[in-house]
Amino acid sequence: VPELPEVETVANGVHERVHGRTILSVWTSGKPQTFKSPETEIAEVLTGARIAQVRRVGKTIVMTLDRGQSNHATQAEFLIHLGMTGRLLVSPHGTPVPLHTHAILTLDDTREIRFVDARRFGRLSIHQPTPPQRAKDNEQRTTNNYTGPGREPLTISPNDFIALFRNRRTPIKAALLNQSLLHGVGNIYADESLFRAAIRPRRQAARLTRAELTRLRAALIEVLHHAIHLGGSSVSDYVDADGVRGFFQLQHKVYLRTGQPCLDCGTPIKKIALAGRSTHFCPKCQR
Ligand SMILES: [Zn+2]
Repeated sequence: VPELPEVETVANGVHERVHGRTILSVWTSGKPQTFKSPETEIAEVLTGARIAQVRRVGKTIVMTLDRGQSNHATQAEFLIHLGMTGRLLVSPHGTPVPLHTHAILTLDDTREIRFVDARRFGRLSIHQPTPPQRAKDNEQRTTNNYTGPGREPLTISPNDFIALFRNRRTPIKAALLNQSLLHGVGNIYADESLFRAAIRPRRQAARLTRAELTRLRAALIEVLHHAIHLGGSSVSDYVDADGVRGFFQLQHKVYLRTGQPCLDCGTPIKKIALAGRSTHFCPKCQR
């Protein structure tokens, strides 16, 4: 399953390859499960649009589209959620189209952006900004860019991070995975950051001290940045040809290391079920 660092790397890789290009035509597969917006709307919004930017929001890839007029109400965004097996490829025209291709955007330089998804948990949709005349007051004249449901773990301030967990009576592990609090933190990075912050996954979120939460935020950012950094070097492999298959695996300290000695103290790593997810921790290092 692509996690935040993989999605960030894919978004950056696709951005480098296609920003500034114009989409000339759109083909979609007609498989209803993949399309959260009607396929006719997707084709209509994308055709003729210039790709201003491709970025990551949570675990969603957001393609900002410029539709050629000075009126900023014509900006829309194409949202790509990779699901479990989704891949976003930038391919030269004429190369074989992989099985399970659900969308092809043909660019003005003849290359194609292809969305390929064998298991079809991925989703494609259009996000339209609220027209400015409907915005209530001018103070709130934001750009209406897609922001997703939760806060961005890489840029949230220490105080905002601490505030997220106030009054949260759930285990900290469950709170970290709660996408309406922080978006994009998956099981691996939750377990790894809790280990690095020396916090037990079952601890109640509201009972963590400011110092512990400060440590947790730093650990989370560190593991995410580390994975993004290492993933960046393999961009061309999977964006061009192999999807996310070749993506680097973080050197896990606890995740999937059940029964193996803790790398810091030698105690066997424990595995428990928490919030329906397998959870790995060191019973000695994490308190
Ligand atoms: Zn340990």
